Amino acid sequence: MGKKVLIVGGVAGGASAAARLRRLDEDADIIMFERDEYISFANCGLPYYIGETIKERSKLLVQTPKSMHARFNIDVRNNSEVTQVDTENKKIIVNSKTRGVYEESYDYLILSPGAKALRPNIPGINSSKILTLRNIPDTDAIKAYIDHKGVNSAVVIGGGYIGVEMAENLREIGLSVALVEAAPHILAPFDDDMVVMLEKELVQNGINLILSDGVNSFQEIGSQVEVTLKSDIKLNADLVILAIGVTPDTSFLKDSGLEFGPRGHILANEKMETNRAGVYAVGDAVEVVDFITKQKTAIPLAGPANKQGRIAADNVAGLNSIYKGTQGTSIIKVFGVTAASTGANERVLKKANLPYRTLYVHPLSHASYYPGALPMTLKLIFNDEGAILGAQGIGYDGVDKRIDVIAAVIRLKGTVEDLTELELSYAPPFSSAKDPVNMAGFAAQNILAGRTHVVTWQDIEPYKNEDYTLVDVRSREEFDNGHIEGAVNIPVDSLRERIGELDQNKTIIEYCQVGLRGYIADRILSQKGFNVLNVTGGYKTISALNFDPEKLGADTAKSKRVTVDPDTQVVKENENQTEIYDKALDACGLCCPGPIIQVIANMDELKDGQILKVSASDPGFFEDIKVWCKRTNNEIVNISKIGGNVTAFIKKY
Ligand code: FAD
Repeated sequence: MGKKVLIVGGVAGGASAAARLRRLDEDADIIMFERDEYISFANCGLPYYIGETIKERSKLLVQTPKSMHARFNIDVRNNSEVTQVDTENKKIIVNSKTRGVYEESYDYLILSPGAKALRPNIPGINSSKILTLRNIPDTDAIKAYIDHKGVNSAVVIGGGYIGVEMAENLREIGLSVALVEAAPHILAPFDDDMVVMLEKELVQNGINLILSDGVNSFQEIGSQVEVTLKSDIKLNADLVILAIGVTPDTSFLKDSGLEFGPRGHILANEKMETNRAGVYAVGDAVEVVDFITKQKTAIPLAGPANKQGRIAADNVAGLNSIYKGTQGTSIIKVFGVTAASTGANERVLKKANLPYRTLYVHPLSHASYYPGALPMTLKLIFNDEGAILGAQGIGYDGVDKRIDVIAAVIRLKGTVEDLTELELSYAPPFSSAKDPVNMAGFAAQNILAGRTHVVTWQDIEPYKNEDYTLVDVRSREEFDNGHIEGAVNIPVDSLRERIGELDQNKTIIEYCQVGLRGYIADRILSQKGFNVLNVTGGYKTISALNFDPEKLGADTAKSKRVTVDPDTQVVKENENQTEIYDKALDACGLCCPGPIIQVIANMDELKDGQILKVSASDPGFFEDIKVWCKRTNNEIVNISKIGGNVTAFIKKY
């Protein structure tokens, strides 16, 4: 008879542990307990089934008790809740829907009970119209509610990954959606300067985004719920999704003798072994070590849960596997935008008191001359020794692979120097000869070598006390379209001739659109003896910082196609979609200001009242063209953005 191993929890960590253990030990007696009916389902796919991107419910069920038994000879006991664990006598108590209450002994126990949605004691929280999402029954309940109760509107509380995914998916099926976040910004893994791009995408897709506001109370009024926020704003909706975070599902372990962290997470060592002999714990329910800061934390993600399940099984089987910490690599789709992050962000590093530097690059997803190239923003966080501490990426294409490459370098304890040396696959449809990851490395290398002197816009305040000149080194068109107050415009291409206009006794703070021309300006000026600071990320990053969703306004439209009123920014229904135009301009593949320059040239050829249709693949054009039209008294008849592609109809006046 082999060893008897009990596993609590039959999804990510639990099912991984069970399958791995069987592959290592054909003789083990493995019993997996799952409180619910379903095991090994795709938690991460649940929002997309609600949003109807995943059409078949059966696709969510990766394994069933029957298939798990057939393939792995696991005794799967679903509808069986483990209610108590006695680590002294190595046994558990099970409450089964079919077998009633019984005891089961063990040689080894692997705990993977996961985390449950927080449901704080807010007045009115027990309304049946306020739902949470963790598993298949929750998904069925939300879907049935939407399908059978005539739901037209929803309020999602909480701007974490699940909240944002739910807001997007509910919007995709045509609901009017408000998303409420108590913190100043959504999606905590991203820094404020990055996440604004995602907030913009939500608003431009018709989400009523409310930041820095929490819920005071819920009240059922007729068929709706009235959500009263701390600011006194009242939101009425047919459905409320509560997604304000999770807490470890560990209450059944309270008399087990296991040790817990301050927020109820099970403590385990690097072998995933708890303080009690033969008991292992994995997944969302355990405290982990942050791979970067080395501090204790909890990061509920599927990848770490699966890996930890495998490591626990290895150790039960006698192998010596260790878990080296969680890096928090994660990714999200927000309508047309992809956002990914790895390692620590600025908030985490500040809290841990670890020094860092940041830089931004805004490269294209692949060679600019090959159709479909779209810009991305990469933020790299590193220290004076060149160690990479974290990275965040936001864009329309290829963000996932860049962040994954950086994640791998971080995991292998690589440096910014290593980023410059990485030889990554390249052909024009996929990347550039210098991949965005290399570009981030080059920029970091230049900073560390003192070849460029960057400053973030957030850190500029102390310099303002000095005598300085603010120089915008972009083109005249870009400058006229919007610039920082007080800046003088000297385009980088005329900087050498106009260098005499600058006072050498003053610090020069200069910026371009994304930082690249700023770097060139920095090289020109510093070699001529100027004291220069280049604002990293350029005007693009600076203007992102000023984003305020309230200024963009909310909407109640249900249209899936994103057509935005240029003045109010409110998403419109499709009825006014114009297709009448006098001239078409294809500005795809050009980066700003390229499309604007092309627009100027083409508008010159039109008569008053004629319409130019412009297609551009630089998402920045969506903002730039509105500003340009306002400034030049031309009219945007219609503008739409699908993914990163913008189409604008401009009437000449
Ligand atoms: P779970 O997978 O939650 O499994 C725990 C299981 O244990 C549950 O089924 C529970 O019923 C059972 N259980 C608990 N207590 C008992 C008991 N006493 N007796 C018997 N059974 C018990 N992560 C990502 O990395 N990427 C994503 O895109 C992503 N999307 C997500 C979307 C949603 C909607 C949700 C809910 C989560 C998402 N996650 C995502 C997180 C990811 O699913 C979790 O990190 C992962 O499932 C954790 O694995 P686990 O084994 O610890 O817990």
